[in-house]
Amino acid sequence: MDRELLESQLAELPLYQYAFIDTGDLCFSERIRWICEHECPMYNRTWACPPAVGSVEECRARCLAFDSALLIATITEVSDIANIDETLATRMPHEEITRQVTQLVRAQGLETMTLSTEACAHCARCAWPDAPCRHPEKMYPCVESHGIVVTDLAEKTGIDFYAEGNIVTWFSLIFYR
Ligand code: SF4
Repeated sequence: MDRELLESQLAELPLYQYAFIDTGDLCFSERIRWICEHECPMYNRTWACPPAVGSVEECRARCLAFDSALLIATITEVSDIANIDETLATRMPHEEITRQVTQLVRAQGLETMTLSTEACAHCARCAWPDAPCRHPEKMYPCVESHGIVVTDLAEKTGIDFYAEGNIVTWFSLIFYR
């Protein structure tokens, strides 16, 4: 990878922070999957979520098939972070930046796998489980869906996980090889 070129391109995007990581630094936990299963209304609703993404062990193997990844974070200020609708509305700009960064990495001739935020919302009704995903090239599973402990990763990379006040922070991981 031409990291210098990529970093000059990243500087043009409204990113809050980013870090290049070795995938060996990722921490995977069944506890994160437990939260998906018991606390997320999107569990078993899309191809981007468990159980469609496979077991945590399968997700781990898929991630570790790549040696390197780029962690990106964006932040947006909202008037009230407790307002779920307002908070979630900040997600789509982050998804667009994730798509752009993925394209920049791919433009260097690299193969990528991208994990992003929440469940997939490209279709009004997901094809899961009756038919294959309609847009696999655009569908980014959630980072947490793979059992990745984002707080651990943020700490290791020095990226702020909890911002002060009414700041929404979103993370994505772009694996490349
Ligand atoms: S692109 Fe459509 S079919 Fe594929 S995961 Fe997203 S919502 Fe489901």
